[in-house]
Amino acid sequence: MEDGTLDTLIEMSRLAVVRHHQGDLAEAHRLQQEVLATSRKMLGENDRFTLLALSNLAEILRAQGNLGEAREMQESVLVKSRPTLGDGDQVTLAAMASLGTMLEQQGDLAGARRQFEEVIAISGRSGEENTFTLRVLNELASVLLTQGDSAGAYALLEKLLDGRRRLLGEEHPETLQAVFGLAAASLTKGDGAPAAAVHDQGKLAALHGLLEEVLATSRRVLGEDHPSTIQAMSDLGAVLLAQGNLRGARKMQEAALAKSRLTLGEQNRTTLTAMGRLGTALRRQGDLAGAQRLGEEALSTSRRLYGNESVLTLEAMDELAEVLHLQGDSASARGLREKVAEGRLRLLGEEHPKTLEAVVSLAVVAYAQGDCARARELDEQALPIMRRVLGEEHPSVLTTMDNLAGVMHSQGDVKAARELQERVVSAFRRLRGDYHTDTLLAMNNLAVTMATQGDLIGARVLQEQVLDNSRRALGPEHFNTLLVKQNLALTLKSQGIGTATAGSRCVHCLKHLEQKTADHVFPRSWYPLGTPDSVQRWTVPSCPQCNKRLALAEKDLMVTLALCINDTDGAATGVPAKALRAIGIGTSELSEIETSHREKYRRKILSRVVPYGLLRRVLPSLRVGELNGRPADGLDDMAPVAILTIGLVAPVAEKIVRGLEFKLVGRYIEPPLSLKCFVVPPEKIHALDDVFEKSTDLEFGPGLRVLRAVPMDNEIFAMYRIIIWKALTVDVAVGRLSH
Ligand SMILES: [Zn+2]
Repeated sequence: MEDGTLDTLIEMSRLAVVRHHQGDLAEAHRLQQEVLATSRKMLGENDRFTLLALSNLAEILRAQGNLGEAREMQESVLVKSRPTLGDGDQVTLAAMASLGTMLEQQGDLAGARRQFEEVIAISGRSGEENTFTLRVLNELASVLLTQGDSAGAYALLEKLLDGRRRLLGEEHPETLQAVFGLAAASLTKGDGAPAAAVHDQGKLAALHGLLEEVLATSRRVLGEDHPSTIQAMSDLGAVLLAQGNLRGARKMQEAALAKSRLTLGEQNRTTLTAMGRLGTALRRQGDLAGAQRLGEEALSTSRRLYGNESVLTLEAMDELAEVLHLQGDSASARGLREKVAEGRLRLLGEEHPKTLEAVVSLAVVAYAQGDCARARELDEQALPIMRRVLGEEHPSVLTTMDNLAGVMHSQGDVKAARELQERVVSAFRRLRGDYHTDTLLAMNNLAVTMATQGDLIGARVLQEQVLDNSRRALGPEHFNTLLVKQNLALTLKSQGIGTATAGSRCVHCLKHLEQKTADHVFPRSWYPLGTPDSVQRWTVPSCPQCNKRLALAEKDLMVTLALCINDTDGAATGVPAKALRAIGIGTSELSEIETSHREKYRRKILSRVVPYGLLRRVLPSLRVGELNGRPADGLDDMAPVAILTIGLVAPVAEKIVRGLEFKLVGRYIEPPLSLKCFVVPPEKIHALDDVFEKSTDLEFGPGLRVLRAVPMDNEIFAMYRIIIWKALTVDVAVGRLSH
């Protein structure tokens, strides 16, 4: 053998590797085949160089998407290299790692994991760290993530980052990518379902900053067109999407995809990733036609690269199914989702979050097709496993419960549906808050069920709140807001309330309004600190004169009562201090006029507030419960109590009820209707329990609660109970009352 020929062969082999990295797979393939043929002839079938050439060719075939042949070839390399070169030889190790990647792509995660773990174990024996081992570590972490073992993946990524820092330095793009990988994994650590982490905006912001750094360094060190730079662009686009910046995500992903197609080629993992992510961004922007086009392309690329059975191909299939479902093509969506569910069950197992997601998504399309029986069967099959694996109150569990309730409703099982929906709503409110789309959607669904049951007032109260919160959270023109508005209009129609006549008269004095003016049903100053922002702050039509008159009545009652309360379990936090300021205590820098004004007001209020001991002496027959709704037990002689005359309470209580009757049933209180108001002493709180047992319960934060019942009675049409700061209870009857 001539040395010159061997040099040429080595040169040609290097060139093939360069072409491969440049993405020119056809040329790389041609060169590598030539190297292999020559090497076989010159050096023999079992020579190390021949085996290396064979292994490199297998890698090219893998990149070309010919997984079956690639895998066979790599296995044949190992059969020869292990006995002749030994397990520790670099050619053997590279072939083993390559085989691991192929198994991963074909969806054999357990096989891939075994392969990578073996490579790491063998390399570890030599005691020296190298970039090859670290890359395998990275691949293993990716398998663990796909298997749902995020804690295991996290531990590996920490090791990876540590190793790259030592071997490559802090600034190296691969080190920065490890930093990014670790941060991304920390989002899902101990959970396994990235969806739950997506809502953690703080973590996303940190990730965003980190990724911008990775991208900037990669651009500077490696250049604009380097695969790592393109990957970083696409990753940044994914974070933007999770942050809800749809336009930014789309722009970034479009740029990454264009570059990737050009420099890395169509049949490339980075190109495929960018394609899938761009499709998702388009779908979320509502460009369904664009999303479908990309989804179809991504699916066919993935099939060519990884085959039909790969986890990644199932991912592409799932995304396309979602787009088709949104376009109303339930039949095609269902076909794809059947395959996704079945594939994931086989590849990932029945308890994997992705498998569970596929099963409940399948239920959604089955339901959309009207196949309630199948949808219910799937949901009921998935739910117990989800509860066990994800936890009782995981957002996916709650959403699936809500889906199941929808199916039950359609099947006519309305009572069971409502029970389920009430649980979902209360859990979402607690976990996600009142403005989250999940909460709003669940509340909307519950309202529809309530309306079906004939509970129109309950439905209306809920829908008003959903509408208000949707406007604030999503904007008045958002699709969901408009949907809620439509539902509310339907409820109003069922209640017989037209929108044309409502609101043209003052609800208090019944005079026609010159211009549209409104009054709050509850005065703002009554809400204690800690009242959520989302609490309903209803307004009703009211003339300026009534507004002014009633505002004074509200203030008098508020200040008088607030001076007599201290301990109400947070139901009146901050209110006593407000009352003191209203009578000029705890204020500073007031004008002279204002100071004397408040002093005068103080004298007026204090004429109603007396020490309990004094009251007992002067009016022994008057029980304190009738005065301010507090039990007398435990009151010492110096405790302030208020003389709450009906003249002080009734104008305010009746004002609230006139507002609520208008808001809830569109009714003005005018002859023959009238109101009658009673202050309820503590010992009589339970006297009307059977009336209020079936009532609409309106909560206005911790300080205010109203019950509305409809008694079976010819005189009383509605019965209200108003509870203020857990201190004052007032009942108001509405009807044809004989006074
Ligand atoms: Zn008026």
